[in-house]
Amino acid sequence: MSTQKPGLSRRHLMERTPALLASAGMLAAQTGQPPAPGTRAPIVIRPASVPLSEQKLLQTVPIPKQSGRGVIVLRDQRVKVINPRGKQVGDLFAFAQYSAEEFIAPAFTMTRNRNIYLQIGKGLMSNYGNPLLVLEEDTSGRNDLLYPACSGSQKPGIPASIPNCRDNMQAALRAINFPVPNHPEIVHPHNLFQNSPVIDLDGNIEVREPIAKAGDYVVLRALENVCVVVTACSSPSVVNGKEPKELLMEVYG
Ligand SMILES: [Zn+2]
Repeated sequence: MSTQKPGLSRRHLMERTPALLASAGMLAAQTGQPPAPGTRAPIVIRPASVPLSEQKLLQTVPIPKQSGRGVIVLRDQRVKVINPRGKQVGDLFAFAQYSAEEFIAPAFTMTRNRNIYLQIGKGLMSNYGNPLLVLEEDTSGRNDLLYPACSGSQKPGIPASIPNCRDNMQAALRAINFPVPNHPEIVHPHNLFQNSPVIDLDGNIEVREPIAKAGDYVVLRALENVCVVVTACSSPSVVNGKEPKELLMEVYG
């Protein structure tokens, strides 16, 4: 657990390769100049050192309905998020272990991968443009990147009497003594199993029941040491098949 103050440390910046810095736009941040056209390096997803079949189950983390849980996942370890009963959304958050101020950010994932859904073999990108996780397996094939976490105070809101994903994310971090980000309202989830397709060329979106069946899962590999939080979305609406349910997380390494 890092006790370092939030923000990119000088040491951390020095450890980044020039290519990664360039790809992340960090050179622009250092010099005050945007990267020159054509200098943005492609994102390289480091291949796995060992397959999942050769890793051991290290931790099983049940996520009761309408709650969240967090785990530290070290580089090259994997986290499997399972939908035991199907039709349940899991809001996925991941923070760099060195600072809660670097976290996976769906707008970065979408624009770098040029797709509004998660893609097998592609990175889940941070707000600094770094891939922190890579999706290796996905049995349902539908994960939303457009919606923020539900919260008690703003849309997509749910009644204050019901737990919400934004609060549950913060509670999960506190429960494992990981720092809460300074502005949790701008930490948006990658919504595992959420089925909210764009339904026409005008860009209209429809929230539908998840297509995830009982037992469907995703497997993510950590590209850096991260804190992963998954909240079992609390909404009793169609987004969770009208019944909030539990999820299960497993860590392999
Ligand atoms: Zn939610």
